[in-house]
Amino acid sequence: MATATEKPPSSSSSSNPSTKPALPPGMVIGPDGKPCKICTAFRNWKPRVDKPQQAQNGAQGVSGQQKTAAMMAAFASGTGFAANSQQQASTVTAPVPEPDPYARPENCPPDVEQLGRSTWTFLHTTAAYYPDKPTMAHRVNMLSLLRALPVLYPCSVCATHLGETMKTHPPDVSSRAALSRWLCEQHNEVNERLGKEKFDCSIEKLDERWKDGPADGSCD
Ligand SMILES: Cc1cc2nc3c(=O)[nH]c(=O)nc-3n(C[C@H](O)[C@H](O)[C@H](O)COP(=O)(O)OP(=O)(O)OC[C@H]3O[C@@H](n4cnc5c(N)ncnc54)[C@H](O)[C@@H]3O)c2cc1C
Repeated sequence: MATATEKPPSSSSSSNPSTKPALPPGMVIGPDGKPCKICTAFRNWKPRVDKPQQAQNGAQGVSGQQKTAAMMAAFASGTGFAANSQQQASTVTAPVPEPDPYARPENCPPDVEQLGRSTWTFLHTTAAYYPDKPTMAHRVNMLSLLRALPVLYPCSVCATHLGETMKTHPPDVSSRAALSRWLCEQHNEVNERLGKEKFDCSIEKLDERWKDGPADGSCD
């Protein structure tokens, strides 16, 4: 998967290169050669920038963490306790956490990770409830759903990879177990590409994750 380097391909335009800001290094470039936001994890399109310590700590140069540590030390030694509860209320104030400028509001559009997690949840759960003995209608509709993904999945880079692996490893919609395993293997192919651990594709493990929950009843 191509990612942006210091200078994006688009910044080499001869018209006015200096007006185009450099892309974040982790931004994924789509098949059209343009930055693909839905192919990129949010943390890569808005990478954190370490601010100088002084600026982060505010005017007194003391961070929230340092304030908390000092307060805890005072309490531990006894010197932090006020003589009476009224005085305590007036002298001890909880440190106000600094707002995280990189935190995303809940209602933002998804990034590649949120979209991926939601899609896998839908696909694995649908496979977990697919019939053991599917009718022709079940098979046809499931095949249509899966074959639509390389065409319609919004992360174009992901869709292209999926289309390629589906050519060499076509969907098996012959039963619930076969479909669940096929999806698991597709997901593992992505996991491997992203350097993540592979999942155990036995039907027992898949059912535990996507249908029944663990035997200890923690999800009941
Ligand atoms: C079709 C498709 C293609 C994608 N291609 C790309 C891509 O090219 N590049 C990219 O950056 N991202 C891609 N993604 C997104 C990526 O797969 C992840 O969804 C995303 O990185 C978030 O990962 P996660 O670690 O939260 O867990 P996810 O990988 O989303 O997994 C969610 C949960 O599924 C379970 N799980 C994990 N592996 C398996 C498995 N093999 N079988 C069953 N259950 C499993 C685990 O319990 C896990 O917590 C793709 C997503 C989809 C649906």
